[in-house]
Amino acid sequence: MARNTKKSSPYLYVAIGLIIVAVLLLVTILVLSVSEYGGSGESSVSVGGESAIPSTPDASQTPSVQTSSEPSVPVGLPSESEQTSPPVSVEPPVSGVGNLPEQPETAKAYERTVGKAYSIDMNPYEQYVCPADPMEYVFLVDASHTLAADFEPSDLVTIKDMKPGRPDYYSKMRAVAEKALEAFLEEGRMYGIDDVLVSNGFRSYGSQAALFNSYIAQERAAHPDETEEQIEARVLVYSLRPGTSEHQSGLCVDMHNQQNTDMSFAGTEAAKWLEENCYRFGFVLRYPEDKENITTVMFEPWHFRFVGRVAATEMHELGMCLEEYCDYKGIR
Ligand SMILES: [Zn+2]
Repeated sequence: MARNTKKSSPYLYVAIGLIIVAVLLLVTILVLSVSEYGGSGESSVSVGGESAIPSTPDASQTPSVQTSSEPSVPVGLPSESEQTSPPVSVEPPVSGVGNLPEQPETAKAYERTVGKAYSIDMNPYEQYVCPADPMEYVFLVDASHTLAADFEPSDLVTIKDMKPGRPDYYSKMRAVAEKALEAFLEEGRMYGIDDVLVSNGFRSYGSQAALFNSYIAQERAAHPDETEEQIEARVLVYSLRPGTSEHQSGLCVDMHNQQNTDMSFAGTEAAKWLEENCYRFGFVLRYPEDKENITTVMFEPWHFRFVGRVAATEMHELGMCLEEYCDYKGIR
């Protein structure tokens, strides 16, 4: 037995050695796999991090990823465009309702604020683009904010960049807005946007009524059996009731480089440039595509409204349309 034990001992050593090697291998494999899992764990955290950080249970309550389908959020909630507009540095002058007008800012200071320089000399235009009272032109004209039948601005002037052949009574707008528009289109020409012209400016109550009534007559002829209400409902789908058109304010224009105001303008270089740069001249695209549920007006890539540069820039930064901005500012 003793001999046997002595004889088998080398095999024992070999066996023990093999076991040690096996254990070492196992440990190595374990260490490697742990570090591998750790690595991929990290990478999955950082990859998902962009979305994971805001989508913690709390943050997922906020409409961070929702886009255009987002219904109108009441006041003060910057919506989807906040995600798409990167500038963080801009702190537009705070001008609450009723505040005294701030010191008029210079074009140079404004350029620094928005990080974009003008290509034209703004000196002749600065006082118009940025009126002394920055909120003077911020108000709504719509179905619930109507203008009186006899309302007509006293400072209408002829629009310089008017489409040839348009009737005189569609070719005017308020003097301040007209000068701002001149600057806007002059800047556009520096960027090769050189064929945009205005097809509609001020529209009187009378011409709104004439248009509306002509549509009523057409619908009545086409649907002789329908009631007055039914006929009117048909017309209201595509035409505004007199006194509810923003064009009566003398602060907006339809402008484009097409034959007519139609959707073929949307997405063109000119339309994109106008939309991206209008705020620098105090204008807003009044009926944006992603705000139809708030404005209740169909997307109009050609319709621009003057509100002044302070408000237009703030609206741009906050991603708000005029309805949202007036809510935000408490303007009724
Ligand atoms: Zn219009």
